[in-house]
Amino acid sequence: MKNKVYLIGSGPGDPELITVKGFKIIQECDCILYDFLSSVPLLDEVKSSCEKICVGKADGLHLKEQSEINDLLYEKSLEHKIVVRLKGGDPFIFSRGYDEKTFLQEKGVDVEVIPGITSAIAAPESFGIPLTIKNKISSVAIITGRKRDINAPIEAPDCATLIYLMAVANIKNVVKALLKSGRKGDTPCAFIERTTHKDSRIIYATIRTIEEETEKHKIKPPAVLVVGEVVSYGKRD
Ligand code: SAH
Repeated sequence: MKNKVYLIGSGPGDPELITVKGFKIIQECDCILYDFLSSVPLLDEVKSSCEKICVGKADGLHLKEQSEINDLLYEKSLEHKIVVRLKGGDPFIFSRGYDEKTFLQEKGVDVEVIPGITSAIAAPESFGIPLTIKNKISSVAIITGRKRDINAPIEAPDCATLIYLMAVANIKNVVKALLKSGRKGDTPCAFIERTTHKDSRIIYATIRTIEEETEKHKIKPPAVLVVGEVVSYGKRD
């Protein structure tokens, strides 16, 4: 049998939120490469002989360049039968998972993607905030709140619910983009920090007040920003 690399989404934090399939492969793998954001307790599930490598990617902090991670993955795929690349949330949501997959496939490596629950969905839902509501809220977008080029405009597409990842440090420009797109200043929003971890918390605000509230409550990454009427529906729970 050919060696294989599995790109696995660990889910948003709570180790029980990984898929059964992903969990089983973690228990069998010979080598695991993980980020700071992938669920730490899952690393206790590997065999004692499994090689564990932290490639350390978390909000703005990179232990290794992406090209180094790609090379390392390839190297390990030649050495081991089952290699796991564990990523926080879902491997294809702002995670460079697609880059890693195509890099490996171009070199002839077998790759399988095991989706995970993205923080974009887990964060609002864990506080009872729906993303869509029948006949009322019918679209949702997941957007980056930070671009490599810091001057590049942040997107605010015409959707009922907007979910921003990586928005904490750049909240000022996210607010600018929301107002420029025509959204009202009193549109409800919420920041959810460390979703599905024991110390997870939420702050409620409006587009007009979110920047001030973020500072006041010292919201830190990782956090998800939800914008739209869904936030007030969630609060009714
Ligand atoms: N692939 C990941 C996202 C990676 S980008 C996923 O699908 O969830 C990193 C961003 O994800 C963080 O800046 C933050 O916005 C969000 N994030 C990841 N884990 C989070 C958590 N436990 N709580 C809140 N936000 C989280």
